[in-house]
Amino acid sequence: MVAESGSSVDVTQKGVAVSSFVESPARGFALVPVARTTREVRAVRRALSSRVYVPAFSIVAVAAILIAIGWSSRWGGASFTASMTSLRVVVVGPLTLGVLGVLLVVERLRPAQRRPFFARGYRQDLLYTMLNATLVVPLGTALALSFAEVARRSLPWIVVPRIGVVPRWFVIAVIFVAMDGCNWLAHFANHRVRVLWRFHELHHSQEDMSVLTVFRTHPLIHVSYMLALIPGIVLLANGAVPTTMLVVYAGVVAFEHSNTNLGFGLLGRIFVSPNYHRIHHQLNGPQDVNLGFALTIWDQLFHRAVFPTEETIRTDTGLPGRPLAVEQASARPRHFSVLVTQLIAPFRPMSEASHHMPVSDGTRHLARETLSNDRVAGAEQAAHS
Ligand SMILES: [Zn+2]
Ligand SMILES: [Zn+2]
Repeated sequence: MVAESGSSVDVTQKGVAVSSFVESPARGFALVPVARTTREVRAVRRALSSRVYVPAFSIVAVAAILIAIGWSSRWGGASFTASMTSLRVVVVGPLTLGVLGVLLVVERLRPAQRRPFFARGYRQDLLYTMLNATLVVPLGTALALSFAEVARRSLPWIVVPRIGVVPRWFVIAVIFVAMDGCNWLAHFANHRVRVLWRFHELHHSQEDMSVLTVFRTHPLIHVSYMLALIPGIVLLANGAVPTTMLVVYAGVVAFEHSNTNLGFGLLGRIFVSPNYHRIHHQLNGPQDVNLGFALTIWDQLFHRAVFPTEETIRTDTGLPGRPLAVEQASARPRHFSVLVTQLIAPFRPMSEASHHMPVSDGTRHLARETLSNDRVAGAEQAAHS
């Protein structure tokens, strides 16, 4: 935003300087319209930003261009239907639904926070589950096939030729770890780049966490996670991650969102547990910590790991100041209107509340104000341990 307004000021100043310098009608004839045009552009831009958040359309544009390329190249020869079926198996296949069912029971047995079974947040996230099963699966398939085609076509050298001596299980393990690393990077960008955050904040708006919160995402945020396809494309000739493993991966990511008090003991130093991921969703404190999907190693590598303590297990989740409409805010839940409002929110103009991104630098003092000194000291000690 700063860069944008900066460049518009420069252009305008140039226009004003030139038009005031021009006195003779002969030369002014050509240059005065430039100044007027610049002023008009600025006025249009101002009028637009009072109605919409213009950068959000860049994400729509990237998605549209990718899909247009994929569609015109017939998805690089891949079967759209077969790819969509396998993505549907990962997102809402029988195994995934079975795992989600078990996890819904587990979170009742050992809840981090006690709440009614049909809490508003659960019902809202159930709507997102349905949205994923219907709209997001074909969108995700189109994006993934298109991205793979664009990557293969524009960077053919990234595909490593077949290396016979390397066992297949090793290749799959490498893809799995690298994919998790790319997801970490995309997630980090979601928290640091304003336009991405406007799409990602929906996920963080949940105040009643559950396994279904994994589905509470804006459909267009998947554009940023296309990065995670790169390891699979690079090692395509050497092996592909089986669908079952992707189901397990999806199950792990769903489980860490559950309302379960579980830290995995020593394994929690490597694998993301519900107690660990809850800190990422904490209401009072920076949310650009504990960004890992399955592994905590990336957070540890980049000094962003905050391991759970007794105090963090039951910490409240959500966004400070509720910059986004949430189902818990009004007397009646109004799930459908909240859903629509949440989905169009990234395109709405920036409000005072949406200026606040809960990142480390900006919220460190918020955390200090809200939490006791002991708790902050404990969290910081844990972060550096
Ligand atoms: Zn996040
Ligand atoms: Zn999450």
